[in-house]
Amino acid sequence: MKILTLLLIAFQCLVAPFAFGDDEEKKIAEAMPGKPTVKPKKSHKILVYSKPSGFRHGSIPTGIKGLRIMAEKTKAFEATFTLETTEFTKKGLAKYDMIIFNNCTHVQKAFTEQAQRDAILGFIKSGKAFAGFHSASDGGMPQWQEYTDMIGGCFAGHPWGAGGKWPFFVEDPKHPVNKAFKDKEFTFSDEIYQYKGYDRSKLRILIGLDSVKSGKKGNSKTNDYPVSWVRSYGKGKIFYSNFGHNKATWWTPYMLQHFLDGIQWALGDLDGPSESVPQSKNTK
Ligand SMILES: [Zn+2]
Repeated sequence: MKILTLLLIAFQCLVAPFAFGDDEEKKIAEAMPGKPTVKPKKSHKILVYSKPSGFRHGSIPTGIKGLRIMAEKTKAFEATFTLETTEFTKKGLAKYDMIIFNNCTHVQKAFTEQAQRDAILGFIKSGKAFAGFHSASDGGMPQWQEYTDMIGGCFAGHPWGAGGKWPFFVEDPKHPVNKAFKDKEFTFSDEIYQYKGYDRSKLRILIGLDSVKSGKKGNSKTNDYPVSWVRSYGKGKIFYSNFGHNKATWWTPYMLQHFLDGIQWALGDLDGPSESVPQSKNTK
């Protein structure tokens, strides 16, 4: 009997992780929207790059799972995942509609050749889409200034640490990419950046951090701490969110809805403006 029990336990240990997926996957799948926000106008192919060239976030695999499950469950897009830079050429990118940078720190070290940099930025300018999560903005300037200009700002420290619960406000309540947020103000736990190379007049800020309420000061004279935004870039569209340092962000239902809506907006399926709007709170 004893041997039989041991064999049974061994069998369960071997089979269970494959049969039921891991814990994170279950939580993400439960939190994920069940369908696309709008029906895709055509099928979309996205290339997701997740290799950090600086700090390695523990949430990178969680983000990969999140975007994979988003693709599978909502069918808003098909996703290809890579840790290699080889596809990032004019020819390699031609089969894709969107690039996503998932927490890949210091991209200026990954893409050092001018031809690759031109291929990435040219891809977006030609009318394609780009989304960046969390440390996708931790890189660029001064070595690759054009990347910072594209994404909209460069990491300049995080006065709001990952363990804190911070106050946020919806800057643009009518924007479709903000539909997930039921209240104009909310608190959430994640690591939040201040920026250099940031120019509000080029971006449409969707979510802001309420620094006054947070009790912490950052580098902005007008307390302007953008968290999620959209913008036009040439003929292309960009969605960026600073959320995504903490693994739990990737199984928070309204965050996943916000991410899906940002991706569908950048892909051109979800309509909404990209023109800049003035700062709405804490301007002094
Ligand atoms: Zn981080």
